[in-house]
Amino acid sequence: MNRFEQFKLSQDILKGIQDLGFEEPSPIQKKCIPSILRGEDVIGQAQTGTGKTAAFGIPALEKIDTHINKVQSIILAPTRELAIQVSEEIRRIGRPKRVRTLPIYGGQAIGRQIKALQQGVHVVIGTPGRLLDHLRRGTLKTDHVRIVVLDEADEMLDMGFIDDIEEVMQFVPKGRQLLLFSATMPSAIRQLAQKYMRKARMITVNHGEVTAPAITQVSYRVLENFKVEALCRILDSEEIDLAIIFCRTKKGVDDLTESLQARGYLAGGLHGDLTQQQRDRVMSAFRQGEIELLIATDVAARGIDVGSVSHVVNYDIPQDVESYVHRIGRTGRAGRRGMALTLVTPREMKQLRQIEQETGARLTPKELPTLEEVAA
Ligand code: ADP
Ligand code: MG
Repeated sequence: MNRFEQFKLSQDILKGIQDLGFEEPSPIQKKCIPSILRGEDVIGQAQTGTGKTAAFGIPALEKIDTHINKVQSIILAPTRELAIQVSEEIRRIGRPKRVRTLPIYGGQAIGRQIKALQQGVHVVIGTPGRLLDHLRRGTLKTDHVRIVVLDEADEMLDMGFIDDIEEVMQFVPKGRQLLLFSATMPSAIRQLAQKYMRKARMITVNHGEVTAPAITQVSYRVLENFKVEALCRILDSEEIDLAIIFCRTKKGVDDLTESLQARGYLAGGLHGDLTQQQRDRVMSAFRQGEIELLIATDVAARGIDVGSVSHVVNYDIPQDVESYVHRIGRTGRAGRRGMALTLVTPREMKQLRQIEQETGARLTPKELPTLEEVAA
């Protein structure tokens, strides 16, 4: 049977899943949901865009007792954008059951979060730093916490959150169930699991292939001072719904955003020097299609899940293979097809070869469209 009814889920949760339009469980959901419902500690590994949020979200929500107006699940996510995104999906699945969820992250007034926590919340989704802040202040109580989730664990470790995560673990009750989800499994994650999990069940889908087959990968050889022009030709010749364009630095993001806006593209920049309000505004404009091109640094775009991202462009080639995998995982989500385009300057051929070697994928070399092709 390939439906959500195969699991022991209440009518309310099934209704929440149905309201989201999910018809059948994805492979990682199929494997994780029963195991988490049974109370096991689970390490779940699957590519980006395979539905890991619902894989832990559905059983975690099933286990919430709404008669108890206390925090029962804590979910850690690497960035504010991701915390909001996960929180939104959890909120929607939990709505028929009347589960109360709250995203908490830095950059938002802490007073407002404290008030919201006091009103009674069942599931908290937060970035490690701000969660810790509430735990230390005692404004987030953990006596009723039964499930802790480390979502996008590889990204959290990459971003240097290990100490914060370890301290959060000191605050949660001993009997809790720990769930860890990640696109990749570097050894630091295995160590973390070993330290905090009892008998962890390791659930992996699609191992062997690092990058999703639904993504077509292409490379363009370009000269450094022709990159903006090359990008514009590519943008004009592709059928783009929404695109994320990656730059190496914040200044690179600002410069490229300006160049593209000056040429009449609907472009917006996203990086860590913007205020939270500015970032929220850009993201919401991008989600609504008011901005078609999101220019971002790696950190700013981590984990962003906008379904209609048809193209990812590596304007600057990523510095390592993990970053390449994460970047292109922003497209080809939930079964849609995606394009990943990488600009490569002569000096960057080494990085290109390394990416191809380590992912096992070939970034098919393509000629830049000519001006006639662009005009057509
Ligand atoms: P991951 O965390 O593995 O990168 P997400 O949990 O963000 O992936 O899911 C990617 C997208 O797929 C989201 O838009 C989500 O709503 C959607 N999705 C998840 N599970 C299903 C499902 N069973 N059927 C259809 N869409 C789904
Ligand atoms: Mg995820």
